[in-house]
Amino acid sequence: MAAPRDHPGALEKQGREGRRGGSGVEVVFPPDPAAPAPLCPHGPTLLFVKVIQGKEETRRFYACSACRDRKDCNFFQWEDEKLSPARLAAREAHHRRFLPPLSRTQCVDRYLKFIALPLTERKFCQSCQQLLLLEEWDKHREHQVLGDISVSQLRRPSRLLYPLENKKTNAQYLFAERSCQFLVDLLSALGFQRVLCVGTPRLHELIRLTASGDNKSNMKSLLLDIDFRYSQFYMEDSFCHYNMFNHHFFDGKAALDVCRAFLQDGNGEGVIMVTDPPFGGLVEPLAVTFKKLIAMWKEGQSQDDGYKELPIFWIFPYFFESRICQFFPSFSMLDYQVDYDNHALYKHGKTGRKQSPVRIFTNIPPSKIILPTEEGYRFCPLCQRYVSVENQHCEHCNSCPSKDGRKWNHCFLCNKCVKPSWIHCSTCSHCAVPDHSCEGPKDGCFICGELDHKRSNCPNISASKRANKAVRKQKQRKSNKMKMETTKGQTMNHTSATRKKKRRERTHQYLCS
Ligand code: SAH
Ligand code: ZN
Ligand code: ZN
Ligand code: ZN
Ligand code: ZN
Repeated sequence: MAAPRDHPGALEKQGREGRRGGSGVEVVFPPDPAAPAPLCPHGPTLLFVKVIQGKEETRRFYACSACRDRKDCNFFQWEDEKLSPARLAAREAHHRRFLPPLSRTQCVDRYLKFIALPLTERKFCQSCQQLLLLEEWDKHREHQVLGDISVSQLRRPSRLLYPLENKKTNAQYLFAERSCQFLVDLLSALGFQRVLCVGTPRLHELIRLTASGDNKSNMKSLLLDIDFRYSQFYMEDSFCHYNMFNHHFFDGKAALDVCRAFLQDGNGEGVIMVTDPPFGGLVEPLAVTFKKLIAMWKEGQSQDDGYKELPIFWIFPYFFESRICQFFPSFSMLDYQVDYDNHALYKHGKTGRKQSPVRIFTNIPPSKIILPTEEGYRFCPLCQRYVSVENQHCEHCNSCPSKDGRKWNHCFLCNKCVKPSWIHCSTCSHCAVPDHSCEGPKDGCFICGELDHKRSNCPNISASKRANKAVRKQKQRKSNKMKMETTKGQTMNHTSATRKKKRRERTHQYLCS
């Protein structure tokens, strides 16, 4: 059950190191432009390299950009591997089975037919997560079917569909009403007329609901998301099936043009991009994608606007701050805590004890962003920004230094403010949790280095296993072949037994490093 997003410790480490979980797998950028990446059903794959004890393994491999679980997409290819035409064809046939059953245009046709039905004939199959047309009722007779689907239900698909919580692909965590309303109000107060929603289906629908209400808002929204179920509820100009880890539009140029037109409308004035990617995803491919969207927006600018930036809200945990700012130096992190509906760990508890670690990163000056005082934020005149009430200004740091919403304490030896639970350790010569091991992570988890669990309970174990299994499988295939060629008919000799043992040891070493 435990997975990176559920385990702030492991994610925090990933945030610091820029790796995929504890698996020690890193993405390689920029891939050689002369060698285009092979395609999986989710568009161009990414090139990865395994890193063992700080050293890169020489053999790199391509894997799916979107799915961190082999169950969702098992694409694997060594960088230097040549596939026979027969294997390529087989692979393509295999991929086709992953494609959505309907084209985007077919979805829109269905939607139009559906809304023309009288209320009593509008049904939604919960088992198949699909709106049903009359002629389909029969097929779904045995399923969980919801009747009388109202217009207001159709306008809130994120409530009709169940969230896809599979941590390693969709990691769909929906904004709590309070946070979602805060975002819509903020976007409107900042004067935006168009919002490019990248992986924010609930925000998208609330913007549209607000605009269709009788108030003055006429904000438009375009949703880009990999969750194809949403395509049932929107016309072509408000949803594109999209992969944000490789900037892939599943419906090709037509969809790309929709996105471009949306960004470039009115010379690109009044548009903002808001994104809330899966937290287990790597920052670098996301940054590369967002830069492509920025470039697309820029193409529509006149020359003298060259210095302008596309306004962005990137919603992500606070411990990714340095990673995000590395790619976007103009971004700052707001103190606002983003809350979720279906996430037990990342939502404000009633007691206020559970704090969400999720923040907004933005290139809009923080002084322009008013955080609600009734939710415990205040304006710091020295920092010229809104902060958590507990985040007290430190005269030595000359800032409100807290990242997690609690009051931090200044350490004069470290010369900075630190978490309240930390103490200064003279052995390590910096502040740390009181029960840390000064010699590093050896008392904690071998995989991720966290101190609160052992390897067997590590939330990252599946990620490491996946990387290992993929590599092992290839090695196995090779060694099987070798065995067939060399030890045909013999029982396993001593050397191959040693080799096998060595391999086991290496794997163990890898898992435990
Ligand atoms: N808080 C947001 C939802 C964020 S959850 C809201 O309430 O609106 C992450 C979202 O990103 C999900 O909608 C998920 O379907 C989408 N997503 C996950 N992987 C993606 C990918 N590779 N490309 C595009 N969207 C993706
Ligand atoms: Zn894939
Ligand atoms: Zn300080
Ligand atoms: Zn120490
Ligand atoms: Zn661990």
